[in-house]
Amino acid sequence: MDLTVDPCDDFYRFSCGKFLRETQIPDDKTAQTTFKNLYKACMNVKNIETIGLDPMKKMLQDLGGWPVLEGENWNEETFSWKDSVYKFHEHGYSVDYFIDFSIVINVKNNTERIIDLDQATLGLSREYLVKGINEKLVNAYYRYMIDIAVILGANKDVATAELRDALEFEIKLANISLPLEQRRNASKLYNPMTLDDLQTKFPSIPWVEYLNSLLYPKDKLRETDIVVVDVPSYISNLEELLRSTPKKVQANYALWRATAAGILQGSFFSNDRPKYMNFGAIGFVIGHEITHGFDDQGRQFDKNGNLVDWWQEDTKKSYIEKAKCIIEQYGSYRVAEVNLTLNGINNQGENIADNGGIKEAYNAYVNWARKHPAEPRLPGLQEFTPQQMFWVSAASTWCSKHRPESLKLRITTGFHSPGEFRVLGPLSNLETFSSDFQCPSGSKMNPDKKCKVW
Ligand SMILES: [Zn+2]
Repeated sequence: MDLTVDPCDDFYRFSCGKFLRETQIPDDKTAQTTFKNLYKACMNVKNIETIGLDPMKKMLQDLGGWPVLEGENWNEETFSWKDSVYKFHEHGYSVDYFIDFSIVINVKNNTERIIDLDQATLGLSREYLVKGINEKLVNAYYRYMIDIAVILGANKDVATAELRDALEFEIKLANISLPLEQRRNASKLYNPMTLDDLQTKFPSIPWVEYLNSLLYPKDKLRETDIVVVDVPSYISNLEELLRSTPKKVQANYALWRATAAGILQGSFFSNDRPKYMNFGAIGFVIGHEITHGFDDQGRQFDKNGNLVDWWQEDTKKSYIEKAKCIIEQYGSYRVAEVNLTLNGINNQGENIADNGGIKEAYNAYVNWARKHPAEPRLPGLQEFTPQQMFWVSAASTWCSKHRPESLKLRITTGFHSPGEFRVLGPLSNLETFSSDFQCPSGSKMNPDKKCKVW
């Protein structure tokens, strides 16, 4: 977000300002868009209020304590990486930070499901981590780890030192993982083994106990049961790595991953993402798809999906009149950066779907909110009401940054308006938006002329 922008003047920049400022398009991509995570996009970690930290601190305690926070109180005797994985499982967190565990379709017999053991899921992709701690993105990740630990009460120097070791451990996990290029051969990744075989090949891990703990309370395996190991060399190297890594480093790594997962789940202030965020983001998208059934193309089909002209003449006439308003509205949007105007005709179906979709999502939210107690406001964004955050959430779904060539291509040949206009168009047509932000009539987001199809 960019709180210096007037929401009634340019709601896209108000919601996406930080994204636009800080996003860099990767070298191999033509654009960067985001079905964002508002916590990442908006949350200034330094603004989080202490009041919201208690659930997170309690969770870390339940998981065995994060050494970087516990200092002298952390007890090495009672820690083992396996126990931490079991505790993660018990609390509903990922169990994949050391060995990725999943139940998948058996690729050699697709009527059956099988346990699959793979290299760890890392907090940053392997391709970055292997470049080491001085790589820009890896370094940003490191600073983020330190920030979070300090917010939770860690001493900055302790966090800087201990989390460096934890990150070095994660980098080693990346280094023993297979690169993507070597993961394209399905047969090479298919190494079936009985639990007995596993125990012989990788003796330092008690496999029956380990797997049964992760399956508990649903299933129980025996020594003769078969699992698939994707990268056997990873497991042997992991055994060696765990032998040579102090427990405190393992624990700092493991609990960091839990902490990070907790932040993304929004446990900073409650167990659930507030509904105003969900209705704004996914609700908007669902409404958009539903409205397609009634756009300029969808209306040509009947309820069975057959091409039938089933509308009455006067309905059709009034529809075309309303659609014309949308065509002209979007056709007047100019993208200065590439000196092009949008093609209101080609884009009308998507624009009609956006306009209807956001309205349906808002009505659904207001309906929901009427029947439920008020939800807590977002830490750091306390000044905004749930209704206002609904709009921010909807807008930030479309934050996007394009290279000029990609933007040109999109405008001349695409059916979706660029993200900016998917926000400005529908919201400036809606009185509910203007009233939630008290936009003066005649302001850019509250123009006198408004288009409305559905
Ligand atoms: Zn669409």
